[in-house]
Amino acid sequence: MKKTVLITGTSSGFGAAVAHFFAEKGWNVIATMRDTHKAGDLRNSDNVLITKLDVQDAVTIESAIAAGIERFGRIDVVVNNAGYGLFGIFESASREAIQTQFDVNVFGAMDVTRAILPHFRANHAGTIINISSGAGAIGFPMASIYSASKFALEGFSEGLRYELASLGIRVKIIEPGGAMQTGFMARVGGESTGLQLIEDYLPFLGKIGKVYGGMQEAADPDAVEKVVAAIFEAATDGTDRLRYTPTNDILPILNARRSSSEEAYQLFTNSLFVSQNE
Ligand code: NAP
Repeated sequence: MKKTVLITGTSSGFGAAVAHFFAEKGWNVIATMRDTHKAGDLRNSDNVLITKLDVQDAVTIESAIAAGIERFGRIDVVVNNAGYGLFGIFESASREAIQTQFDVNVFGAMDVTRAILPHFRANHAGTIINISSGAGAIGFPMASIYSASKFALEGFSEGLRYELASLGIRVKIIEPGGAMQTGFMARVGGESTGLQLIEDYLPFLGKIGKVYGGMQEAADPDAVEKVVAAIFEAATDGTDRLRYTPTNDILPILNARRSSSEEAYQLFTNSLFVSQNE
């Protein structure tokens, strides 16, 4: 029997690419997005249902899940991909802008998860794949709010995993690197962020901009393909593995975080973000 995946945020980037990939692999795909006019050539596949889902709107979450079950009979995998990055100096971000970041990246994923769980429990099966980030494991300068949201998503996923294991439901975390070869960059610092310029930070911003420029040059050129492959692996490998780190650009810093002492980790990250900044 064909399997079915529901993906949030398929209007662009990883979400669109992963929707195409699952469809090409013969899966039924519930490709959800805020604005279904952005579906593009996802419309050309018979096994793709395009439906509205705004993770900030519970009614659309329920209706997308119901439409998917009505069309394909069941849902096997949910990919919580919808998200964006509120990048900038913490002090310059309003409470409202921070709240919206958490509404989408954290509460949105939680609301989709809560809505699908009765169906997964009834099936005694299901996989939830949460798209985190390298910034879900380490705090990046200029990304303290985004990192906080992805740390929250990781803590949620890790704790939830234990609750669901005995019910036959798996939880997975994907940690893409900072390649930003999607629509992600265009949204960073966009109108939704509401950031105000504080001049005292300008020298810091100039220096850290150069550090990020170097990191982008070192990013995996095929990051999107690698992330898509990791999401498909997480959906199909039948293991209880929790984390997938598909891009090489993020590995040195993740290894420093997870395989060395706190002191060594801090020395390493200082060499990236502090020394070059003095
Ligand atoms: P993207 O091209 O900007 O895609 C983001 C998607 O999320 C879009 O489809 C967007 O829809 C959707 N979205 C935003 N707010 C939403 C809401 N309230 N409800 C439903 N959908 C919403 O960027 P991307 O890189 O593919 O991002 C996908 C995920 O990967 C995000 O969770 C991001 O944090 C994560 N990530 C990206 C990178 C990277 O370097 N690209 C690295 C690490 C992690 P609209 O078109 O309607 O705005």
